[in-house]
Amino acid sequence: MQIIFQCPACEKRSLVRPQPSSAAVSCGHCDWSRDTGATDFEGDYCRRCRVCGCEDLWRQKDFPPALGLAFVATGGLLSTIAWAWHEPIWALGILMVFALVDGLLYTFMSDMLVCYRCRARHRKTELDENHIAFNLELNERYIQMKKRQDDAERK
Ligand SMILES: [Zn+2]
Ligand SMILES: [Zn+2]
Repeated sequence: MQIIFQCPACEKRSLVRPQPSSAAVSCGHCDWSRDTGATDFEGDYCRRCRVCGCEDLWRQKDFPPALGLAFVATGGLLSTIAWAWHEPIWALGILMVFALVDGLLYTFMSDMLVCYRCRARHRKTELDENHIAFNLELNERYIQMKKRQDDAERK
């Protein structure tokens, strides 16, 4: 497992690879760490955020959206150039190849778990059908919760 998170204590970003997966998670910049042993897990499956203990995690493709967008943009650009050179077959071919590769990448890309509360990303971890996709309503609830918390802290 690989976890990318923002440290709750010093707020710096860290990347950790706990070995085994249930080992302690600790910050690379300060002495914050969280060690709950195997209680975050159900067998091999991670059920709680390893950073904040939140039980709501969403499943998402482990694929940087910016990279996907850049890829599609490159295909579009090449195709436009081919079109400008009066090569419509090439223009179409390029678009089709890029769309195909994009689709393949998407299919073979593994999923990761993201925490609704602290946005920690859990990569390279076992997943099953209990890990469900992003839910807007649930996300809204966490945003409201965070707002209330921030307001309370300000008082
Ligand atoms: Zn820290
Ligand atoms: Zn969390």
